[in-house]
Amino acid sequence: MPGIYIHFPFCIKKCCYCDFFSITDMKNTEKFNNSLIREIRLYSEKLDSKPLVSSLFFGGGTPSLMKPEELELILNELKKHFQFSDDIEFTLECNPGTIEKSKLEGYKQLGVNRLSIGIQSLIPKELEFLERIHSPEEALKAIETGREAGFDNISTDIIFSIPGQKVKDIRYSLENLLKYKPNHISAYNLTFEKGTPLYNSMQSGKVRRNDDEVDAEIFEYVSDTLTDAGYEQYEVSNFAFDGKKCRHNLNYWNGGTYFAFGTSAHGYVNGIRYWNHKNLKKYFDLVEKDLLPIEGSEVLTKRQILEEKIMLGLRCEGLNMEEIKKEFQIDLIAVNQELINHLANEKLIENGNQHIRLTRKGYLLSDEVISKICAEISSVV
Ligand code: SF4
Repeated sequence: MPGIYIHFPFCIKKCCYCDFFSITDMKNTEKFNNSLIREIRLYSEKLDSKPLVSSLFFGGGTPSLMKPEELELILNELKKHFQFSDDIEFTLECNPGTIEKSKLEGYKQLGVNRLSIGIQSLIPKELEFLERIHSPEEALKAIETGREAGFDNISTDIIFSIPGQKVKDIRYSLENLLKYKPNHISAYNLTFEKGTPLYNSMQSGKVRRNDDEVDAEIFEYVSDTLTDAGYEQYEVSNFAFDGKKCRHNLNYWNGGTYFAFGTSAHGYVNGIRYWNHKNLKKYFDLVEKDLLPIEGSEVLTKRQILEEKIMLGLRCEGLNMEEIKKEFQIDLIAVNQELINHLANEKLIENGNQHIRLTRKGYLLSDEVISKICAEISSVV
C-alpha cells in the first residue's frame, strides 16, 4: 500500500556528515508550513480519488521542531485528500536535542505512533565529532520520554565507524542503548558524502577514514550483537525487534508507490520518480504561483526497475528468481552463471531454490556485489 513522505527542512545546527537538505535559518518555518499545505492541495488536484495510504513519514531536517498545532494543520490537509488505513504507521523523526514530553504527547494525540530518534552515539567525543546538538544523556532521556508519552514503537539511529572508533567504543554505545530496548535500530556506517564538511575535512587530511578492516570488524560486531539481542536484520542496516520492521521503508524497498511533499522530497507514483526543488525560495515561488515545486522526474526504464529490484532485494531478504523471470523475462542466474558461482564460492551469496541472498560477509560488501550483478545484466536488458 502507498506511503507519504514529508520533508521538513529545518535543523538547529548542521551535523558535519549530513547531506540531507536542511537549513538552520528558522525565519521561514511558518511560511514553509503554509506552502507545504498548499503544495498538498495543489497535488490533490491531480488525483481522481483519495488514495489509501498505510504509512506516513515526517523526515528532514528535524520535524520534531514542529509544534503539535503545526503538525495538525498539515495532517488536516493530508486527510482531505488521502485515506489513512486504520493501522497506518505514522513516523516522526526526532532529534534528542528538541524533545519535550508535552510535545511528544501532542504528537501522540495526533496519531503519530512511531518515533525515530537520532541517537548516533553514546560517547560524548563522538557526538562532538559529528556535531550533534545533544549529549548521550539527552539521547537516552529522549527514549524514556517517548515511552512516558505512550510510544510503544521507538526506532533509534546509530552511526558506526566514526574515525578512530574501535569495537570497544561501539560496544559501549550499543550495550547502553540496548538497556532501553528500542523496538527498531538503524545502524549506519558513517559515509563521507561529497559537499559535506566531513568530506572536506577528509580531503584536506584533517580527518582519516577508518580502514576497511576496522569497518568490517565493527559492522560484524554490530550485526552479531543486535542479532544476539533478538533483533532481526531485515535489511543491511536495519534491525527490528518483535517484528517491528519499518513499513514505510519496506514499501520503498519493494518498489511501492510513495507520495512526497516538501523541499527536496522524492516520490514514486505510477512508475514515475519525481523530486522537488531544494531551494526554499524556488519552492515558495512556485507554490505561490499555484505550481507544483517539482524540479525533475523520470520514467524508470525496465533496466532501472530491474537494477533497483536487485539492489533492494539483495539488501533485504534476497531475490526470488522465479518472480524476476516472470516480471522481466530474464533468467538472472543463467545470465550471471559464472559470476553467481564465483560469488557463492567466495561465500558472499547463498544460492538455492531459485533464491539468492547475501551472506553476512556479502552484507559487508553489498555495494560491490550488487554493482557486479547489475553490470552483468546491462547486455541483456
Ligand atoms: S539533525 Fe539530522 S537532518 Fe539535521 S543536520 Fe543533523 S543529521 Fe542532518
